[in-house]
This record gives sequence, structure tokens and C-alpha cells, in this order.
Amino acid sequence: MYLEINQRNYPSKINKPVVVICLDGSQKEYLDRASQSKLTPNLDKIVKEGEFILAHSAIPSFTNPNNISIVTGQPSAVHGICGNFFYTPSTNKEVMMNDPQYLRAPTIFQKFYEQGSKIAVITAKDKLRSLLGNGLNFNENRAICFSSEKSDQTTIEQNGIEKVNEWLNMPVPEVYSQGLSEFVMKAGVKILNEFKPDIMYLSTTDFIQHKYEPGHEIANQFYQMFDDNIGLLNDNDISLVITADHGMKAKTNINGDPNAIFLEDLLKEKFPQENFKVILPITDPYVVHHGSLGSFAMIYVENQSLISNVVAEIQKVPEIEEVMNKQEACSAYHLPEDRSGDIICMSSESFTIGSSKSKHDLSSLKEPLRSHGGLHEREVPFILNSSKSDITNQGQIYNYDAFYYATHMANK
Ligand code: ZN
Ligand code: ZN
Repeated sequence: MYLEINQRNYPSKINKPVVVICLDGSQKEYLDRASQSKLTPNLDKIVKEGEFILAHSAIPSFTNPNNISIVTGQPSAVHGICGNFFYTPSTNKEVMMNDPQYLRAPTIFQKFYEQGSKIAVITAKDKLRSLLGNGLNFNENRAICFSSEKSDQTTIEQNGIEKVNEWLNMPVPEVYSQGLSEFVMKAGVKILNEFKPDIMYLSTTDFIQHKYEPGHEIANQFYQMFDDNIGLLNDNDISLVITADHGMKAKTNINGDPNAIFLEDLLKEKFPQENFKVILPITDPYVVHHGSLGSFAMIYVENQSLISNVVAEIQKVPEIEEVMNKQEACSAYHLPEDRSGDIICMSSESFTIGSSKSKHDLSSLKEPLRSHGGLHEREVPFILNSSKSDITNQGQIYNYDAFYYATHMANK
């Protein structure tokens, strides 16, 4: 018996709790370095008994599109969330996409909930919460969804749980701290034991990964914290998949200054009479750790007859690795055409893309820039706590296959 969700079949009967963790910004090297320092004994055991493969994220390799891909099982061409916001040329408006009205597909949680399952979703940042919790009814004691960022504002009506800080005995963490993710993990352990969900999703934040490279003492501490909690989760008989929304790469020159190509400035210089709008979908209210610089950009070209000339011009820029018109890019990377720019660009491994230099305030960047968004950050870990999935024979795996494998493992 299968439950069809967004054109994929999930087993309608699952025999043990399904737990998927999205470890934000966790480039494989973070796990490798922490493991080499013997800080992740629980994870090491899971990998030994299960599988550790490398999957691809959805493109752009940003947080929201990938979290929504993971929880719908499909890329953004299907669910519609392709960045933190989209731009509408006819109105000249930039619209934030963290409202469920922009979601074009039901989540896996909603579909399982409708057939009677118990669901728990915990996210670090509140910007994801309403998308992830869409379609759940919190008044029936079968659904919980909250963020650690706003854990002090939880109510039964909105979150299915209240007084979270007292319950967990942890105050609201600072938004820029390891604590925000630690809160998610600790709450996950407690919810699994007390609420006993059929399906649980935990989504951390990449604050630490933006600041510290793999192997850094503080990064290692983060994975040690993660490992402690993963051990407590895996003490239960669960079907577990750990993946990431995207990787993370250093984006600096040898002096430690940010590497960025400012596309709006560049195009203004080449085509002084024309108007362009460069959209950086990484931009969000939490800009402190990346200065709105990522490796992916969309360009809106006012004069549509110019598109192929602009593409040709950008192809000459060595730091831009991928440049395509909308149709090519949407077909290659499964993006929604009506929310994409006329041209899509991705930068090289150590570069980011900005709009106009004057629009980026980099003074808040205290550490050398680390960021994501392009092809070099799409490789992500994909860890299963069982070796019975046959996943290694299935060709290219995406992070948004996580619930597919986790539910099928729970059906065995
Ligand atoms: Zn992320
Ligand atoms: Zn990030």
C-alpha cells in the first residue's frame, strides 16, 4: 500500500519512527574532520552499520529551496520555492517566499498527517516554520511544529506545543549561535521519547558553517554536540536519514577578503543604456554571516532582445562558471520559470555574486566569507542508519530523496 505524494510513492504503513535531519551547510569535510578527531563516535557507528553516500542538493544550493525540496520530495519546479524571495518585473516588487501561499505542492508531513500519522517538525530559524508546518492541524494532538528562534512564543493553536523553554529547560537561544541548532537537536530527542511521532524532521542552521571551516575547533564542537544528540536519537529503533541542504565553501582571496563579482555594476558598464536587475535569492533578514553574497544570481533584463548578448558577455567572465537563459536553466536545474529571471548565473568555487558593490554592506562580516548557492556546494552527505536500502544502486541521489528512503527503510 502506497501513499502518493507529488508523484512519488511512499509506504503508507511505517513500522518505526522516521527521522530526517537537515544539517544546514554541512559540507562533507565537516563530518570527516570531526570524525578524524574522534568527536563523533555515534555517527561513526551509524555510518559503519548503514550507508554514507554523497547526494546532490537542489539548485540553487540555498536553505529554503532545499528544505522545501526535502519535505516535498521534489525540486522547486514542483513546489515553487526557489529562493528566499522572487521578483515580479511588471510590479517591480520583490516578494518574500516564506509564506505558504507560495507553496505549490503539499508536504510529505501534510499527506501523512491526513492519513492519521503523528508529525513533529523543529527548525532553527522561524523563517521556515510556516512553510514546513503548512497543512498540519495543531488542535488534534498529532502535530508539533516550532522554531527554536521563537520557542518562547509557542502556542497549542499555532505549534501544537506550548511553554517549550520550560519543557526543555533551555532558554531561547541567540539567533546567531550554535545554541539555535543545539536546541533543535535536544528538543528532537525529547519529542521522540515523549510525543513518539511517526515522522520527525529536524532542521538546523548554518551559522557555525558560515563562520568556521571544517576542522576548526568551534566547528568540531558543533559536530560533537550533534553527535551526542544523534546517539540519543539512534538509541531508539528509528529509521534515520541525515543530509544537508547544501555544502559550504570559502569565498575569499589570499588576503581573506571576500571574492565577489558585482554583476549589476559589470552589466551597467557593458550596456550603459540598458536596465538590469540582479536578484540574489540568498538575501534574507539574517544577512550578518554572508553579507548577501552567494554563488547564484538571477538577472532580469528590461530589453528582452538583449538576453543572448548579455549571456555572451557574462560567458567571458572567468569567475562565472554557469550562465544560461531562463528556459535552459529551468530545464537543467528544475526551477519554476515564472519565478526565475531571464538569465541564471552561478560562480566558480571560490567566488560569489553580488549585485552592485554599493548595495552590499560587508562591514558586518567578521570572519572570512564562506557561502553557498552554486554548483560547488550542491554535494551533500546522505547518511542512512541501515544498509538495507539498496541506495548505492540507484544512480544520482538527491537530498530530497531523504523521506523516500527513510520511509521505505521503516517499512521493512
Ligand atoms: Zn542552509
Ligand atoms: Zn547559509
